[in-house]
Amino acid sequence: MLLSPAFAPPAAATFFAARRAAAPTRPLRILGPCSAESAEQVLATARAVAALGADVLRAGVWKPRSRPGAFEGAGEPSLAWLAEAKKQTGLPVAIEVATPAHIEAALRAGIDVLWLGARTVVNPFVVQELADVLRGVPVPVLVKNPVAPDLDLWTGAIERLRRANVGEVGAIHRGFNTGTPDARYRNPPLWGIPIELRRRMPEITLLCDPSHIGGRRDLIQPLSQHALDLAYDGLMIETHPDPDHALSDAKQQVTPATLAEILAALVVREPHSQQATYAPRAEALRQQIDYADRELVEALANRMRAAGEVGSHKQAHHVTIHQPERWREIFATRTQWAEELGLRPEFVQQLYELIHLESIRRQQSAADGAT
Ligand code: PEP
Ligand code: MN
Repeated sequence: MLLSPAFAPPAAATFFAARRAAAPTRPLRILGPCSAESAEQVLATARAVAALGADVLRAGVWKPRSRPGAFEGAGEPSLAWLAEAKKQTGLPVAIEVATPAHIEAALRAGIDVLWLGARTVVNPFVVQELADVLRGVPVPVLVKNPVAPDLDLWTGAIERLRRANVGEVGAIHRGFNTGTPDARYRNPPLWGIPIELRRRMPEITLLCDPSHIGGRRDLIQPLSQHALDLAYDGLMIETHPDPDHALSDAKQQVTPATLAEILAALVVREPHSQQATYAPRAEALRQQIDYADRELVEALANRMRAAGEVGSHKQAHHVTIHQPERWREIFATRTQWAEELGLRPEFVQQLYELIHLESIRRQQSAADGAT
Protein backbone atom coordinates (compact mmCIF):
# COMPACT_ATOMS: atom_id res chain seq x y z
CA MET A 1 0.00 0.00 0.00
CA LEU A 2 1.32 3.45 -0.84
CA LEU A 3 0.83 6.24 1.62
CA SER A 4 -1.21 9.07 0.25
CA PRO A 5 0.83 12.28 0.09
CA ALA A 6 -1.53 14.09 2.43
CA PHE A 7 -0.08 12.89 5.71
CA ALA A 8 1.32 15.45 8.12
CA PRO A 9 5.09 15.70 8.47
CA PRO A 10 6.29 13.61 11.41
CA ALA A 11 8.75 14.69 14.09
CA ALA A 12 12.42 14.86 13.20
CA ALA A 13 13.92 11.57 12.09
CA THR A 14 16.46 11.73 14.89
CA PHE A 15 13.97 12.76 17.55
CA PHE A 16 15.24 10.53 20.37
CA ALA A 17 18.92 10.86 19.50
CA ALA A 18 18.54 14.65 19.53
CA ARG A 19 16.79 14.58 22.92
CA ARG A 20 19.53 12.32 24.32
CA ALA A 21 22.29 14.54 22.95
CA ALA A 22 20.67 17.67 24.42
CA ALA A 23 20.38 16.16 27.91
CA PRO A 24 22.53 13.03 28.17
CA THR A 25 21.78 12.31 31.81
CA ARG A 26 18.06 13.07 31.71
CA PRO A 27 16.02 9.92 31.08
CA LEU A 28 13.49 10.25 28.25
CA ARG A 29 9.92 10.11 29.49
CA ILE A 30 7.09 8.75 27.40
CA LEU A 31 4.05 9.03 29.61
CA GLY A 32 0.32 8.58 29.14
CA PRO A 33 -2.61 6.24 29.43
CA CYS A 34 -2.67 2.64 28.31
CA SER A 35 -5.64 3.56 26.08
CA ALA A 36 -7.17 6.78 24.87
CA GLU A 37 -10.69 6.49 26.31
CA SER A 38 -12.27 9.92 25.86
CA ALA A 39 -11.32 13.44 24.84
CA GLU A 40 -11.45 14.54 28.50
CA GLN A 41 -9.26 11.69 29.74
CA VAL A 42 -6.66 12.28 27.03
CA LEU A 43 -6.54 16.04 27.60
CA ALA A 44 -6.38 15.75 31.39
CA THR A 45 -3.57 13.20 31.16
CA ALA A 46 -1.71 15.22 28.54
CA ARG A 47 -1.74 18.35 30.70
CA ALA A 48 -0.62 16.37 33.73
CA VAL A 49 2.26 14.62 31.99
CA ALA A 50 3.38 17.86 30.33
CA ALA A 51 3.74 19.24 33.86
CA LEU A 52 5.83 16.17 34.74
CA GLY A 53 8.32 17.00 32.02
CA ALA A 54 7.19 14.32 29.56
CA ASP A 55 9.03 14.23 26.24
CA VAL A 56 6.20 12.38 24.51
CA LEU A 57 2.55 11.61 25.30
CA ARG A 58 1.63 7.96 24.74
CA ALA A 59 -1.83 6.40 24.30
CA GLY A 60 -3.20 3.25 22.71
CA VAL A 61 -5.74 3.82 19.96
CA TRP A 62 -6.11 0.20 18.79
CA LYS A 63 -5.49 -2.21 21.65
CA PRO A 64 -4.25 -5.74 21.04
CA ARG A 65 -6.21 -7.88 23.45
CA SER A 66 -5.47 -11.54 23.95
CA ARG A 67 -9.16 -12.46 24.10
CA PRO A 68 -12.16 -10.98 22.30
CA GLY A 69 -14.69 -8.96 24.22
CA ALA A 70 -12.25 -6.72 26.09
CA PHE A 71 -11.95 -3.01 25.31
CA GLU A 72 -10.12 -2.82 21.99
CA GLY A 73 -9.46 0.91 22.02
CA ALA A 74 -11.58 3.82 20.81
CA GLY A 75 -10.04 3.58 17.32
CA GLU A 76 -9.82 6.38 14.76
CA PRO A 77 -11.95 8.96 16.61
CA SER A 78 -9.34 9.05 19.37
CA LEU A 79 -6.70 10.32 16.92
CA ALA A 80 -8.47 13.68 17.00
CA TRP A 81 -8.25 13.73 20.83
CA LEU A 82 -4.51 13.16 20.57
CA ALA A 83 -4.14 15.87 17.93
CA GLU A 84 -5.95 18.26 20.26
CA ALA A 85 -3.74 17.24 23.20
CA LYS A 86 -0.68 17.88 21.05
CA LYS A 87 -2.02 21.30 20.08
CA GLN A 88 -2.79 22.28 23.66
CA THR A 89 0.40 20.99 25.32
CA GLY A 90 2.95 21.04 22.50
CA LEU A 91 3.83 17.42 23.35
CA PRO A 92 4.67 15.01 20.53
CA VAL A 93 2.34 12.02 20.60
CA ALA A 94 3.04 8.31 20.20
CA ILE A 95 0.68 5.43 19.44
CA GLU A 96 0.93 1.73 18.66
CA VAL A 97 0.36 0.68 15.05
CA ALA A 98 -0.18 -2.89 13.92
CA THR A 99 -1.59 -2.66 10.38
CA PRO A 100 -0.92 -0.55 7.26
CA ALA A 101 -4.30 1.15 7.83
CA HIS A 102 -3.23 2.16 11.36
CA ILE A 103 -0.07 3.73 9.95
CA GLU A 104 -1.94 5.65 7.29
CA ALA A 105 -4.46 6.98 9.81
CA ALA A 106 -1.76 7.84 12.36
CA LEU A 107 0.37 9.82 9.93
CA ARG A 108 -2.65 11.66 8.55
CA ALA A 109 -3.56 12.67 12.10
CA GLY A 110 -0.06 14.06 12.72
CA ILE A 111 1.07 11.39 15.18
CA ASP A 112 4.78 12.02 15.78
CA VAL A 113 6.13 8.68 16.99
CA LEU A 114 4.91 5.14 16.24
CA TRP A 115 5.56 1.96 18.14
CA LEU A 116 5.14 -1.69 17.26
CA GLY A 117 3.62 -3.77 20.05
CA ALA A 118 4.94 -6.98 21.56
CA ARG A 119 2.34 -9.11 19.76
CA THR A 120 3.21 -7.60 16.38
CA VAL A 121 6.97 -8.00 16.70
CA VAL A 122 6.65 -11.80 16.94
CA ASN A 123 5.58 -11.93 13.29
CA PRO A 124 8.26 -11.07 10.70
CA PHE A 125 5.68 -11.03 7.87
CA VAL A 126 3.67 -8.34 9.62
CA VAL A 127 6.77 -6.38 10.61
CA GLN A 128 8.02 -6.45 7.01
CA GLU A 129 4.62 -5.34 5.71
CA LEU A 130 4.65 -2.39 8.11
CA ALA A 131 8.27 -1.56 7.23
CA ASP A 132 7.31 -1.56 3.53
CA VAL A 133 4.45 0.84 4.19
CA LEU A 134 6.81 3.09 6.16
CA ARG A 135 9.63 2.97 3.60
CA GLY A 136 11.30 6.37 3.45
CA VAL A 137 8.91 8.00 5.92
CA PRO A 138 11.09 9.86 8.43
CA VAL A 139 8.96 9.01 11.45
CA PRO A 140 10.66 7.65 14.60
CA VAL A 141 9.53 4.09 15.30
CA LEU A 142 9.96 2.27 18.60
CA VAL A 143 9.98 -1.51 18.63
CA LYS A 144 8.76 -3.32 21.73
CA ASN A 145 10.40 -6.61 22.53
CA PRO A 146 8.42 -9.56 21.14
CA VAL A 147 6.24 -11.48 23.60
CA ALA A 148 8.57 -14.45 23.15
CA PRO A 149 12.04 -14.20 24.72
CA ASP A 150 13.77 -14.30 21.35
CA LEU A 151 16.38 -11.60 20.81
CA ASP A 152 16.72 -12.29 17.08
CA LEU A 153 13.03 -11.55 16.54
CA TRP A 154 13.51 -8.23 18.30
CA THR A 155 16.70 -7.20 16.47
CA GLY A 156 15.24 -8.58 13.23
CA ALA A 157 12.26 -6.22 13.49
CA ILE A 158 14.61 -3.31 14.22
CA GLU A 159 16.71 -4.21 11.15
CA ARG A 160 13.63 -4.44 8.90
CA LEU A 161 12.63 -0.90 9.89
CA ARG A 162 16.16 0.44 9.57
CA ARG A 163 16.44 -1.04 6.07
CA ALA A 164 13.17 0.65 5.17
CA ASN A 165 14.82 3.95 6.04
CA VAL A 166 12.24 5.13 8.50
CA GLY A 167 13.30 7.80 10.98
CA GLU A 168 15.24 6.68 14.00
CA VAL A 169 14.42 3.19 15.30
CA GLY A 170 14.42 2.68 19.07
CA ALA A 171 13.67 -0.26 21.35
CA ILE A 172 11.30 -0.68 24.28
CA HIS A 173 11.84 -3.44 26.82
CA ARG A 174 8.43 -4.53 28.16
CA GLY A 175 9.21 -8.01 29.49
CA PHE A 176 8.57 -11.49 28.12
CA ASN A 177 6.14 -14.35 28.30
CA THR A 178 8.29 -17.21 29.54
CA GLY A 179 5.52 -19.80 29.43
CA THR A 180 5.50 -20.34 33.18
CA PRO A 181 3.54 -18.03 35.47
CA ASP A 182 5.78 -15.80 37.55
CA ALA A 183 4.39 -14.60 40.86
CA ARG A 184 6.46 -11.43 40.75
CA TYR A 185 5.96 -10.06 37.25
CA ARG A 186 3.26 -9.89 34.60
CA ASN A 187 6.02 -10.21 31.98
CA PRO A 188 9.35 -11.24 33.51
CA PRO A 189 12.06 -8.77 32.50
CA LEU A 190 14.89 -11.24 31.62
CA TRP A 191 17.34 -8.32 31.81
CA GLY A 192 20.04 -10.32 29.99
CA ILE A 193 18.11 -9.98 26.70
CA PRO A 194 18.05 -6.16 26.53
CA ILE A 195 21.65 -6.08 27.80
CA GLU A 196 22.63 -8.27 24.86
CA LEU A 197 20.55 -6.09 22.49
CA ARG A 198 22.61 -3.13 23.69
CA ARG A 199 25.84 -5.02 23.11
CA ARG A 200 24.79 -5.80 19.54
CA MET A 201 23.29 -2.38 18.82
CA PRO A 202 25.23 0.09 21.00
CA GLU A 203 23.72 3.21 19.45
CA ILE A 204 20.06 2.28 19.87
CA THR A 205 17.78 4.31 22.11
CA LEU A 206 16.66 1.78 24.71
CA LEU A 207 13.63 2.47 26.87
CA CYS A 208 12.06 0.44 29.66
CA ASP A 209 8.31 -0.04 30.08
CA PRO A 210 8.00 -0.98 33.77
CA SER A 211 4.17 -0.87 33.55
CA HIS A 212 3.92 -3.95 31.33
CA ILE A 213 6.85 -5.77 32.96
CA GLY A 214 5.45 -5.47 36.48
CA GLY A 215 1.74 -5.32 35.80
CA ARG A 216 1.45 -3.74 39.26
CA ARG A 217 1.66 -0.19 40.53
CA ASP A 218 4.18 -0.91 43.28
CA LEU A 219 6.72 -2.34 40.84
CA ILE A 220 6.97 0.75 38.61
CA GLN A 221 9.45 2.50 40.90
CA PRO A 222 11.92 -0.37 41.49
CA LEU A 223 11.81 -1.52 37.85
CA SER A 224 12.38 2.04 36.60
CA GLN A 225 15.30 2.47 38.98
CA HIS A 226 16.82 -0.83 37.88
CA ALA A 227 16.52 0.19 34.22
CA LEU A 228 18.25 3.50 34.89
CA ASP A 229 20.97 1.70 36.82
CA LEU A 230 21.49 -0.41 33.68
CA ALA A 231 21.97 2.80 31.64
CA TYR A 232 18.65 2.72 29.78
CA ASP A 233 17.90 5.97 27.95
CA GLY A 234 14.41 6.41 29.31
CA LEU A 235 11.06 5.09 30.41
CA MET A 236 7.59 4.53 28.98
CA ILE A 237 5.09 4.56 31.85
CA GLU A 238 1.30 4.29 31.85
CA THR A 239 -0.71 6.87 33.78
CA HIS A 240 -4.44 7.53 34.03
CA PRO A 241 -6.46 10.15 35.93
CA ASP A 242 -8.62 7.42 37.49
CA PRO A 243 -6.61 4.19 37.25
CA ASP A 244 -9.10 1.97 39.08
CA HIS A 245 -11.66 2.68 36.36
CA ALA A 246 -9.28 2.48 33.40
CA LEU A 247 -10.70 0.46 30.50
CA SER A 248 -7.42 -1.44 30.05
CA ASP A 249 -4.50 -2.32 32.32
CA ALA A 250 -6.16 -0.81 35.41
CA LYS A 251 -3.89 -2.63 37.86
CA GLN A 252 -0.68 -1.16 36.51
CA GLN A 253 -1.72 2.45 35.90
CA VAL A 254 -0.99 5.18 38.41
CA THR A 255 -2.38 8.68 38.77
CA PRO A 256 -0.17 11.52 37.50
CA ALA A 257 0.33 12.52 41.16
CA THR A 258 1.72 9.10 42.03
CA LEU A 259 3.80 9.16 38.87
CA ALA A 260 5.27 12.50 39.96
CA GLU A 261 6.43 10.85 43.20
CA ILE A 262 7.87 7.87 41.32
CA LEU A 263 9.82 10.10 38.95
CA ALA A 264 11.03 12.39 41.72
CA ALA A 265 12.42 9.43 43.68
CA LEU A 266 14.46 8.10 40.75
CA VAL A 267 18.20 8.37 41.17
CA VAL A 268 19.89 9.05 37.86
CA ARG A 269 23.51 7.98 37.84
CA GLU A 270 26.12 9.24 35.40
CA PRO A 271 27.92 6.99 32.91
CA HIS A 272 31.23 8.27 34.37
CA SER A 273 32.32 10.47 37.23
CA GLN A 274 34.70 13.42 36.90
CA GLN A 275 35.59 13.23 40.60
CA ALA A 276 39.30 12.64 41.14
CA THR A 277 38.61 9.79 43.56
CA TYR A 278 36.53 7.82 41.04
CA ALA A 279 38.83 6.73 38.21
CA PRO A 280 41.84 5.26 40.11
CA ARG A 281 39.73 3.05 42.36
CA ALA A 282 37.41 1.96 39.51
CA GLU A 283 40.48 1.09 37.45
CA ALA A 284 42.04 -0.93 40.30
CA LEU A 285 38.83 -2.90 40.85
CA ARG A 286 38.46 -3.56 37.13
CA GLN A 287 42.00 -4.94 37.11
CA GLN A 288 41.00 -7.34 39.88
CA ILE A 289 37.98 -8.39 37.84
CA ASP A 290 40.07 -8.89 34.68
CA TYR A 291 42.58 -10.96 36.60
CA ALA A 292 39.87 -13.11 38.21
CA ASP A 293 38.21 -13.63 34.82
CA ARG A 294 41.49 -14.74 33.27
CA GLU A 295 41.90 -17.27 36.09
CA LEU A 296 38.30 -18.38 35.68
CA VAL A 297 38.71 -19.06 31.96
CA GLU A 298 42.05 -20.83 32.54
CA ALA A 299 40.42 -22.96 35.26
CA LEU A 300 37.60 -23.86 32.86
CA ALA A 301 40.11 -24.82 30.18
CA ASN A 302 41.97 -27.06 32.68
CA ARG A 303 38.74 -28.61 33.83
CA MET A 304 37.60 -29.38 30.31
CA ARG A 305 41.00 -30.84 29.39
CA ALA A 306 40.73 -33.24 32.36
CA ALA A 307 37.14 -34.02 31.32
CA GLY A 308 38.34 -34.93 27.84
CA GLU A 309 40.99 -37.23 29.29
CA VAL A 310 38.51 -38.93 31.58
CA GLY A 311 36.25 -39.37 28.53
CA SER A 312 38.95 -41.32 26.65
CA HIS A 313 39.78 -43.28 29.78
CA LYS A 314 36.15 -44.29 30.31
CA GLN A 315 35.85 -45.24 26.65
CA ALA A 316 38.91 -47.49 26.92
CA HIS A 317 37.35 -49.22 29.92
CA HIS A 318 33.79 -49.44 28.50
CA VAL A 319 32.37 -47.13 31.17
CA THR A 320 29.40 -44.83 30.50
CA ILE A 321 30.21 -41.16 30.04
CA HIS A 322 27.50 -39.93 32.39
CA GLN A 323 27.41 -41.27 35.91
CA PRO A 324 24.39 -39.87 37.75
CA GLU A 325 25.77 -40.47 41.25
CA ARG A 326 29.00 -38.57 40.38
CA TRP A 327 26.95 -35.67 39.01
CA ARG A 328 24.78 -35.64 42.15
CA GLU A 329 27.92 -35.43 44.26
CA ILE A 330 29.43 -32.62 42.15
CA PHE A 331 26.18 -30.67 42.28
CA ALA A 332 25.90 -31.01 46.08
CA THR A 333 29.54 -30.21 46.92
CA ARG A 334 29.77 -27.20 44.59
CA THR A 335 26.51 -25.83 46.02
CA GLN A 336 27.96 -26.20 49.51
CA TRP A 337 31.24 -24.53 48.52
CA ALA A 338 29.25 -21.67 47.00
CA GLU A 339 27.31 -21.16 50.22
CA GLU A 340 30.48 -21.23 52.31
CA LEU A 341 31.98 -18.53 50.08
CA GLY A 342 28.92 -16.28 50.13
CA LEU A 343 27.71 -17.01 46.60
CA ARG A 344 24.06 -17.54 45.72
CA PRO A 345 23.55 -21.32 45.47
CA GLU A 346 21.16 -20.98 42.48
CA PHE A 347 23.81 -19.02 40.59
CA VAL A 348 26.46 -21.70 41.07
CA GLN A 349 23.95 -24.47 40.32
CA GLN A 350 23.00 -22.84 37.01
CA LEU A 351 26.67 -22.42 36.18
CA TYR A 352 27.35 -26.06 36.96
CA GLU A 353 24.49 -27.25 34.80
CA LEU A 354 26.22 -25.50 31.90
CA ILE A 355 29.67 -26.75 32.89
CA HIS A 356 28.37 -30.29 33.22
CA LEU A 357 26.73 -30.26 29.78
CA GLU A 358 29.93 -28.94 28.22
CA SER A 359 31.93 -31.55 30.12
CA ILE A 360 29.73 -34.34 28.73
CA ARG A 361 30.19 -32.88 25.25
CA ARG A 362 33.98 -32.87 25.71
CA GLN A 363 34.02 -36.41 27.08
CA GLN A 364 31.84 -37.57 24.21
CA SER A 365 34.05 -36.05 21.55
CA ALA A 366 37.21 -37.37 23.26
CA ALA A 367 35.61 -40.82 23.43
CA ASP A 368 34.55 -40.59 19.76
CA GLY A 369 38.10 -39.58 18.85
CA ALA A 370 39.48 -42.52 20.78
CA THR A 371 37.45 -45.12 18.84
C1 PEP B 1 0.77 -0.99 25.51
O1 PEP B 1 1.82 -0.34 25.49
O2 PEP B 1 -0.29 -0.57 25.99
C2 PEP B 1 0.80 -2.36 24.99
C3 PEP B 1 -0.28 -2.99 24.55
O3 PEP B 1 2.01 -2.90 25.08
P1 PEP B 1 2.64 -4.32 24.70
O4 PEP B 1 2.69 -4.39 23.23
O5 PEP B 1 3.99 -4.17 25.34
O6 PEP B 1 1.80 -5.37 25.35
MN1 MN C 1 -1.17 -1.19 28.49
